[in-house]
Amino acid sequence: MSKRAAKIFTPGWIAGKAAGLRKYLGFPAIGFVHPMDALDRVVSKPLDKSGTIYGDYEIVPDSTRFIPDGNAAYTDLDQRKIYIRERAVAQFARGKFGIEAFDVFHEIGHLVIHCVNKDVTRIVPDDYVYKNAMEDPERQADVFAAEFYVPAEDAKRKTYVDIIREYGCSSSMAMRRVKECNPTTYY
Ligand SMILES: [Zn+2]
Repeated sequence: MSKRAAKIFTPGWIAGKAAGLRKYLGFPAIGFVHPMDALDRVVSKPLDKSGTIYGDYEIVPDSTRFIPDGNAAYTDLDQRKIYIRERAVAQFARGKFGIEAFDVFHEIGHLVIHCVNKDVTRIVPDDYVYKNAMEDPERQADVFAAEFYVPAEDAKRKTYVDIIREYGCSSSMAMRRVKECNPTTYY
């Protein structure tokens, strides 16, 4: 769980990657995607063009220590594997999504951006200061998750109340998506 720096990808490039993954996995361009359905599909298809690299995921007990406190999931970049807490899976089964669903999409972002070509990230000292916010792989995975979870195409034409209802995301995330996808409109 060492600190890493990544090759710089623009938010636009990352959003394109998220939209492309929805299509590749057979999901519609907009609309709610169940996080467990996304996990099942993402591990069933190769992540790379040559068709040899696959991701994996495993549901683990809530007591699992290597998942950071407060996170629903964690990705081992070397194993190309997502570990997800069973409490998050149970929560999804009750129809509650929110930040835990965002966490799953964040980890899927690591899988498709940082695990296919491992040279994309490098380990840096803990006191390393990013020269650009988009050099932070965590920031990159967040940009990916926001677009995969609530696509801009939908966020820019809906109210945040509609977005919460349709996607089950947190109110702060819905508010942020409406603002960042349509900067001239505030609700
Ligand atoms: Zn992360």
